[in-house]
Amino acid sequence: MRFFNFLPTIQKIRGDLAGKRQNSVSLLLGLGVKQSTEFQNMTEHARVVVIGGGVVGCSCLYHLAALGIKDALLLERDELTSGSTWHAAGNLPTFSASWSILKLQKYSAALYRKLAASAENPINYHLTGSVRLAHGRNRMDEFHHVKSMAKANGLEYEILSPSDLKDRYPLIETHDLQGALWDPLDGDIDPSQLTQALAREARLLGGTIRRHTRVNAWRKNPMANGW
Ligand SMILES: Cc1cc2nc3c(=O)[nH]c(=O)nc-3n(C[C@H](O)[C@H](O)[C@H](O)COP(=O)(O)OP(=O)(O)OC[C@H]3O[C@@H](n4cnc5c(N)ncnc54)[C@H](O)[C@@H]3O)c2cc1C
Repeated sequence: MRFFNFLPTIQKIRGDLAGKRQNSVSLLLGLGVKQSTEFQNMTEHARVVVIGGGVVGCSCLYHLAALGIKDALLLERDELTSGSTWHAAGNLPTFSASWSILKLQKYSAALYRKLAASAENPINYHLTGSVRLAHGRNRMDEFHHVKSMAKANGLEYEILSPSDLKDRYPLIETHDLQGALWDPLDGDIDPSQLTQALAREARLLGGTIRRHTRVNAWRKNPMANGW
C-alpha cells in the first residue's frame, strides 16, 4: 500500500530546541540529506510518518507497531489529544447497518476493553449496554436485519418487545413503540485517556512520538518512490 511507502526526510527544523517554541518540521523529498549537528536529536528518516496525535493518529501508530513496523514516527504539533479528540463525546456503540462499520466497531470495542483492563492504562470506560427504540415497522425490520449481521460477527443483540422493555426500564413510556434493540456491549469511554493508552502501547511496541513538532510541508520523492 502507498501508505507504507512513506520515506520522509525531515530536513528543516526551525524553533527553539530548548522547547520554548514549537519545533517545526518540513518533510522534504530525497534521502541522504545531511543532518546539521544542531539537530542531531531529531529523527531524519522513518518508514512511515503519521501526522497528528489525536485518536486516529495514535491508533495508526499503534497498529503499525503491532504489525511489526517499528520504524514509524508520529508528529504532533502540540500535545497528544489537543485536537478534537479531547472533547469527543466518547460514545462507543457497536450497532451499525453497515457490515464493515459494524465489524470495525466490534473490533474497536474489543481493543478498548483489552486496553482498559490493564492497570497501566487508566481509562474511564463504562460498559452500560443500550437500547435503541423503534417507533415503526421499518425500524423493527432494520433491527432484525442488523441483529442477524451482528450474530454472524459474534455479537449478541436482543430484540425487545414493548413489554420486555417496560420490564427492564419501568419508567419508559412504550405506548407508541414497536419494540427495541438491546446492545449489551454499548458504552462510553474517555477519548483522551484512550488516546494516551494507544500512544503508550505504540511506544512499548517500538513506535516513536514527537510532540511539539509541527509538519509544515511534504513533497514526493521520485527517487525513493516515497515522500
Ligand atoms: C472513543 C471516542 C468516541 C467518540 N465519540 C464521538 C461521538 O460520540 N460523537 C462524535 O461526533 N464524535 C465522536 N468521536 C470522534 C471525535 O469527535 C473526533 O472525530 C476524533 O477524535 C478525531 O480524531 P483525529 O485524530 O482525526 O483528530 P484530532 O483529535 O483533531 O487530532 C488531529 C491532531 O493533529 C494535530 N495536527 C494538526 N495539524 C498538524 C500539523 N501540521 N503537524 C502536526 N500535527 C498536526 C493536531 O494538533 C491534533 O492533535 C469519538 C472519538 C473517540 C476516540
